[in-house]
Amino acid sequence: MKGELIGGCLCGAVRYTLRDGFRFHPYACHCGNCQSRTGSAFSEHMLFALADLELTGELDQGEYDMPSGAQSTIHGCARCKARIYAVNSTNAGMASLRCGTLDESPRLHIRHHVWVSSKQPWIVLPADAKTMEEQPRSAQEWMAFAGEAAR
Ligand SMILES: [Zn+2]
Ligand SMILES: [Zn+2]
Repeated sequence: MKGELIGGCLCGAVRYTLRDGFRFHPYACHCGNCQSRTGSAFSEHMLFALADLELTGELDQGEYDMPSGAQSTIHGCARCKARIYAVNSTNAGMASLRCGTLDESPRLHIRHHVWVSSKQPWIVLPADAKTMEEQPRSAQEWMAFAGEAAR
């Protein structure tokens, strides 16, 4: 996803603009934590530089300890609880956008899938999908998996 992106929460209290900048390919995460946290089959993320985000409206936060030992803090609308982005205590300066909050989320074409080992069995990925059984373990591995060609 190139260029400036805009989005917001379900009730409209939170709106944001993500300036064009350093970002990775969007990806779907099929891990059990995402299933529990979203109440859905997978979640859509895109790693971006937090400094590129301008946001209005009141957020509140939820926290949980990731299997890696890092702490994830998710920021969502204080009113409707739609989740907007998350930050990870081991990845300073970067954040993960919940891509379904983009106004033009139907334009997203997600080709990257992580944690396919816990994917719901009824979800059939296209033949050209780029997949990992689990997920990258370092910033370098993320760059190799979903970086670079994002822009
Ligand atoms: Zn809201
Ligand atoms: Zn996940």
